[in-house]
Amino acid sequence: MNFLEERIVKDGVVKPGNVLKVESFLNHQMDIALMDQIGDEFKHRFADKPINKILTIEASGIGIACSVARAFNAPMVFAKKSKSINIDGEMYVAEVESFTHKNTNQVIVSKKFLSPNDHVLIVDDFLANGCALNGLIAIVEAAGATVEGLGIVIEKGFQDGGKNLRAKGYHLESLAIVESMNAETGDIQFRVQENA
Ligand code: 5GP
Repeated sequence: MNFLEERIVKDGVVKPGNVLKVESFLNHQMDIALMDQIGDEFKHRFADKPINKILTIEASGIGIACSVARAFNAPMVFAKKSKSINIDGEMYVAEVESFTHKNTNQVIVSKKFLSPNDHVLIVDDFLANGCALNGLIAIVEAAGATVEGLGIVIEKGFQDGGKNLRAKGYHLESLAIVESMNAETGDIQFRVQENA
């Protein structure tokens, strides 16, 4: 097991409805030393890519993306969730259905912060069905920028987001891929990865 898988086994809690809670170290209380390890690991895995910008989605992606941005010495931009229907022409907009809240948000990024010169690494805490990543990819493509890679902390491999994005040819790296989890026993099984 890698450093992240070990931490998930130690502190993660499996909830009914295919939800893994990691709020004691990742998305409520945050272990910053772990965030920095995550940032360094993505820097290592995408070392051959000319990445000059990190993109994530609020709220839980932001802390992770800060550490990734520090590792790449690049700025970080986060897509904002907006209920407003009056978005002016200054924004890139995508629709994102929330896995955890079961609602749909418009997510927006100012046109000032993404341009065709950008080579973007998109990062997020979880990958389930892929709605969040697909929305962020749509925004990068609308800007004429390049998606260099997708960096996910925890992929739930029993949901289809990762499979579909890899099939489309994106370079997707997930630091832990949960193959199965059981809310009754708390048992978590990981996919064996070559570079983990
Ligand atoms: P997707 O858009 O891929 O269906 O779901 C990913 C988004 O939903 C992530 O931004 C993450 O915040 C949230 N999410 C999905 N599954 C889980 C989960 O099992 N636990 C937690 N804490 N968040 C999740």
